Amino acid sequence: MMITNGCIFCRIVSHDQPARLLHEDDICVAYEDISPKAPVHALIVPRKHIPTLIDIEVTDEKLLGHLLRVAARVAESKGLSGFRTVINTNAEAGQTVFHLHVHVLGGRTMRWPPG
Ligand code: AMP
Ligand code: ZN
Repeated sequence: MMITNGCIFCRIVSHDQPARLLHEDDICVAYEDISPKAPVHALIVPRKHIPTLIDIEVTDEKLLGHLLRVAARVAESKGLSGFRTVINTNAEAGQTVFHLHVHVLGGRTMRWPPG
C-alpha cells in the first residue's frame, strides 16, 4: 500500500503513529478522534490514501460502502442507537486532514442543520 509522505492518517493506518484503535480490517481502520466533538467521536479511515470524496472513482464504490457499514458497527459497539455520520470535503466544509474519513458522532443530541 502506498504511503503518502506526511499524511497523518497514512501514518496511523500503517501503525507508524499511535491511535486508540476501535476496528481494523484489510480495507479500513477506525479510531478515536484525538479532539472529540461529542462523547463518542470515531473516525473510519480507508487504508488507501484518497484525499477527498471528490477523488472517489468507480472502483472505490465498494470501499465507500464498507466504510459506512463499519461506521454503523463501530457506533453499535459504542452502544449508540442514533448517531451522526459526516464526511467534510475541502476546507470550506471544514476538512483539515486530506485523507478521506467518515466521522461517527454520538452520545449527545445532534442539532440540525449542522453549522
Ligand atoms: P476533518 O476536519 O473532517 O478533516 O477531520 C479531521 C479530524 O481528525 C479532526 O476531527 C481531528 O480532531 C482528527 N485528528 C487529527 N489528527 C488526529 C490524530 N493524530 N489522531 C486522531 N484524530 C486526529
Ligand atoms: Zn493518507
